[in-house]
Amino acid sequence: MAGNRLVLVINSGSSSLKYQLVEPDSGEAQASGHIERIGEDASSVPDHDAALRRAFEELARDGIDLRTCGLVAVGHRVVHGGNEFYRPTLMDDARIAALEKLSELAPLHNPPALKGIEVARTLLPDVPHVAVFDTAFFHDMPPAAATYAIDRQVAERWQIRRYGFHGTSHRYVSEQAAAFLDRPAGGLKQIVLHLGNGSSASAIAGTRPIDTSMGLTPLEGLVMGTRSGDIDPSIVSYLWHRADMGVDDVETMLNERSGVLGLSGERDFRRLREMIESGDGAAQLAYSVFIHRLRKYIGAYLAVLGHTDVISFTAGIGENDPAVRRDAVAGLEELGIVLDQRRNLSGGRGARQISADGSPIVVLVIPTNEELAIARDCIGALGA
Ligand code: AMP
Repeated sequence: MAGNRLVLVINSGSSSLKYQLVEPDSGEAQASGHIERIGEDASSVPDHDAALRRAFEELARDGIDLRTCGLVAVGHRVVHGGNEFYRPTLMDDARIAALEKLSELAPLHNPPALKGIEVARTLLPDVPHVAVFDTAFFHDMPPAAATYAIDRQVAERWQIRRYGFHGTSHRYVSEQAAAFLDRPAGGLKQIVLHLGNGSSASAIAGTRPIDTSMGLTPLEGLVMGTRSGDIDPSIVSYLWHRADMGVDDVETMLNERSGVLGLSGERDFRRLREMIESGDGAAQLAYSVFIHRLRKYIGAYLAVLGHTDVISFTAGIGENDPAVRRDAVAGLEELGIVLDQRRNLSGGRGARQISADGSPIVVLVIPTNEELAIARDCIGALGA
């Protein structure tokens, strides 16, 4: 494999670590893996150090020696960049310390990523390690969309704003949509619907996002696999007063036991579909709530953009579930969205159009590829 230029992309979650060895020029993935249940009782992977060592063993088993394969960088997905970090950033001790401070803003998400960076720097000390932030794409959102209408001084003191997440995916998909249509991204107005375990929507004018559904944390917005998305914030204090639930209990409930799972007992859309088909009322309600919220955001972003050229569906559900795509835009012909039902059902792997010819708004399915986008960002940051 000598001669290839490769980037190892690492995505460290609290109990899992995903890695992919990517050739940024061709976009080809040379190897990938997913190590789960880190730190769980019955697991053979006690911590992130062991997980990364496991990943390297797996790569070695595939015949890949990271010292000789042409590795030029390690790219780390970091969820929250706060106000400070929005460009792909070469990690050194000072920046890691600055990122550690930011963990307060994203206690659920940033610590495992930082752990991943720390361990990877020890194991691969001779290559640059670059952090790529999920919030980056939304850094320059217009103030009207980025600002919460709360006491301004409190917001400033505690850096409370709408940051937005899944930015790497929203940017990549909007670029791919423009490429698919063979039009410059700068001239397009787009809505991107990233529907996976976590879900978010964005409105993009040219290359600039002008709104997105996630906020200070990835809890706001659409209904997700286990997250509530938008709620009345008074629910938190109500439960605190009336149900004797601590703030942490409520936060855990909203992040881990809400959304589609909280309503139906199931978070996976394939299984949810089976439950609906077998007449499960709770599954049907969960699906209806998910679709209702999604349609509200589509309507909102049509209004925010004024004119929309293209709507793209992406991520696990968006790429694979034709019923969700159908129900998300059903009856919106008067707003310019005309789906071709046969195209929508026909499946396929790559980027594809699912709107009818002549639909004023083009509807696409665009597979996301966050690892490739991160790998290319690393190369860009290094000027390589
Ligand atoms: P992601 O977070 O992008 O990996 O998306 C994961 C989610 O996509 C899973 O939890 C499933 O609910 C959903 N998903 C994956 N494949 C399918 C499929 N063939 N049909 C419906 N939903 C799917």
